[in-house]
Amino acid sequence: MLRLTAMRRMSALVPLLAAILVGCADSGGAVGSPTSPPIIPVAEAATLPTSTPVPPTATSVLPTFTPVPTSTPVPPTATPAGPTVVPTPSPRPAGTAPRVGLQAGHLNASELPDELARFRTSTGARYGGVSEADLNYDIAQRVQALLEAEGVIVDLLPATIPPSYDADAFIAIHADGSAASGPRGWKLATPWRASRAAQQLLDAVAASYGPATGLPQDVGGVTVNMRGYYAFNDRRHTHAIARTTPAIIVEMGFMTSAADRAVLFDQPGRVASGIAQGVLAYLAQRDPSDGAALLPPDFPNLRVGEAGAILRSAPSDDARQITRIAAGQRLFALDRRDGWYQVFSRDFPSAPGWIREDLLETTSEAFPFPTTTNP
Ligand SMILES: [Zn+2]
Repeated sequence: MLRLTAMRRMSALVPLLAAILVGCADSGGAVGSPTSPPIIPVAEAATLPTSTPVPPTATSVLPTFTPVPTSTPVPPTATPAGPTVVPTPSPRPAGTAPRVGLQAGHLNASELPDELARFRTSTGARYGGVSEADLNYDIAQRVQALLEAEGVIVDLLPATIPPSYDADAFIAIHADGSAASGPRGWKLATPWRASRAAQQLLDAVAASYGPATGLPQDVGGVTVNMRGYYAFNDRRHTHAIARTTPAIIVEMGFMTSAADRAVLFDQPGRVASGIAQGVLAYLAQRDPSDGAALLPPDFPNLRVGEAGAILRSAPSDDARQITRIAAGQRLFALDRRDGWYQVFSRDFPSAPGWIREDLLETTSEAFPFPTTTNP
C-alpha cells in the first residue's frame, strides 16, 4: 500500500519532469524519459523477505581467522594496562573466493535481537511512501548481482547481522533524510578505529562512487555518530562484525533531495555500480596475506593535561581551532598521526578533532564508551 502511494506520487511528478525537459535541447532522455519507470521496482519490494535471508555463518565454507601460534607467549604481567590481545588473522587459503557482506540498512528491523531492541522501530529516512529500507534493499540486491558476476561470494544481510560476522569486506548501505529539501550528497565512514584495510576500502569506494553517480560528496557531513554504527561495535554488541572485518557505512545520498532522488530512485544501477566498483577495486588491490592490515589500532586511555588543550580540525598547529578542552577531560582516541591524536570529546560530540600529544596524559580510567547509533 505504501508502495502504491509512492508510485502515485512519483507519477504525479513525471509530467513536471517532462515539462522541465522540454526546455532542454537534446536531453537524450537518459534521466527523465517521461515513460521510464520512475522508481525502484515494485515487484522486488513486494518480495521483501520477512526473515533473515542469510545462512548462519556456522555453515560458511571459509575458515574464520585463527590465532597464529607464537612460540613465546607474552606473560600477562608484561601488558598491565594494555588492550585485549587480538590474534593476528591468518590469511585466507590461496584461491579462496572473496566474501563480502552487504547490509541493507534497517531491513527487517523489527527482528533485531534484544540487545538492539531500541532500533526495532528505526526504519531510517523516508520519502513519500518509500522507506529507506526499501531503497537500501533494492540497491544491495543490485550490488550483489554485480559482485557475484565477478566471482565474489555475497551475503545479503538485514539489520540483524550474524554474531562476529567475518568477511573480506562489510558494506552497510544507508540513505539520508532531512527535514529540509536542501541537504544532499553522499558520505562514507569507517568504524571508530579504522584498520588500514577499512581505510583502503573507504578510499576505493569514495574514488568510484562520485564519478559513477554524479552525486556530490557531503563534505564534512560525517559525524562521530556515523562512525558509531551499531554493527561495527563488537565491544557493545554480539550482533556485530568481527573486529578484523574491514567495514564502511555508505550514506548514498538524501532521499529528501529531488536532485539526489533523480539518481537514487531513477538510476539505481549507477548507485549500485559506484559501490560495486569500489569494492572490487579494494579486493583487487589488497594483499590477502597481510593480516596486520585487518587489525584496528589500539590506543591508551587519554585525558587532557594540566594546561588544557585545543581541539583542531586537522593534525597541525595551523589547523582551525574547534574548541578548547579543559584539563582532566577524558578522551577517546580514534587515530594517531605525526605527534597528534584524533579524539572524541564529550565537550564537542558532533565531530572528532585533533590534539597534540604533548598536551595529553595517559590514564587507567577508560572513557565511557559512546552509545551506538543507527543512522
Ligand atoms: Zn539509515
